[in-house]
Amino acid sequence: MEGRVYNFSAGPAMLPEPVLKQAAAEMLNCGGSGMSVMEMSHRSKDFEAILDSAEADLRELMGIPQNYHVLFLQGGGCTQFAMVPMNLMRNRTADYIVSGQWSKKASAEARLFGQVNIIASSEGENFSRVPDLSNLPVSPDADYVYLCQNETIHGTTIRQIPDTKGKPLAADISSMFLSEPLDVSRYGLLFAGAQKNAGPAGVTVVIIRDDLVREDVLPGTPTMMRYKTHADTHSLYNTPPCWGIYICGLVFKWLKELGGLTAMRERNEKKAALLYQFLDRSGLFHGTVRKQDRSLMNVPFLTGDKALDDKFVAESEAAGLRNLKGHRSVGGMRASLYNAVPYEAVEKLLAFMEKFEKENG
Ligand SMILES: *Cc1c(COP(=O)(O)O)cnc(C)c1O
Repeated sequence: MEGRVYNFSAGPAMLPEPVLKQAAAEMLNCGGSGMSVMEMSHRSKDFEAILDSAEADLRELMGIPQNYHVLFLQGGGCTQFAMVPMNLMRNRTADYIVSGQWSKKASAEARLFGQVNIIASSEGENFSRVPDLSNLPVSPDADYVYLCQNETIHGTTIRQIPDTKGKPLAADISSMFLSEPLDVSRYGLLFAGAQKNAGPAGVTVVIIRDDLVREDVLPGTPTMMRYKTHADTHSLYNTPPCWGIYICGLVFKWLKELGGLTAMRERNEKKAALLYQFLDRSGLFHGTVRKQDRSLMNVPFLTGDKALDDKFVAESEAAGLRNLKGHRSVGGMRASLYNAVPYEAVEKLLAFMEKFEKENG
């Protein structure tokens, strides 16, 4: 294979080419330090500058209010499934909205720590839509309400932040992080594993309102699992994922140069519309999600014939369109259209799908 492929992976996913080129150019000597980021002390001035500008750029991009901490942690999204209850479940009760595999997993993990109420679920509809979130039966003693705003596997997005009746909202935004503007002040806590839309695996960004960073966590919560440990030390309690933070920082600068999250939303809407409009008019392929809940980031689709789906995946791979196979739990195909996936990649995919439909329709 010469050159780069069109990579539609759900994660780890495509990174912007200018970012990869800059990282390559700085590999042996980053910022005049005479060493790579991977070789730097995390307590050095050089790395401190990388960490500080990553945080400042993220705050600017997302409009993060001053009363929120930004933490760069490890352990991926899945570790947050435990950290959220360990830190926030003071009454040992929480309400979960289950709209796909990731929120379902998170609710199961929270059960290790206390009472979990599923206050809305679309599992009965195979997660092909977002459940009705109007007038949620929020429990009076719930410590927080949890949701996954973009379900990566099923390709749904919660467009309207529900009324949580005064309870803090904890949200997994891993697969829509930085894809469009969000009003951070509506949330108590947001988290995202970087490898979907912001950087390499190994760094997880947590944005948490300061009143939720507390001493009185569940008994037995390890030091490393307390948000306070990391908030008090500016993510430098122990060695942070330095390389991941550096790449995320380069991605944040790339996003700023492109006009920030409003510009990203426009780009992402254009890319997704191209594919969804084709799915709506195709006689062979169809989308799996109710229209108003469709994700801009993850687009699952099927032919309805398993053998034909397999043929599509095999032939698309050979044509340089990679990672279009759907998640093993859903089958079919899925195209992830994260920020770094260019419009041209979707045009190429469309041309391939049209050709495949002519030959197999
Ligand atoms: C990928 C993903 C996760 C899991 O992230 P890890 O970093 O692999 O633990 C959690 N939530 C969502 C929405 C995801 O897309």
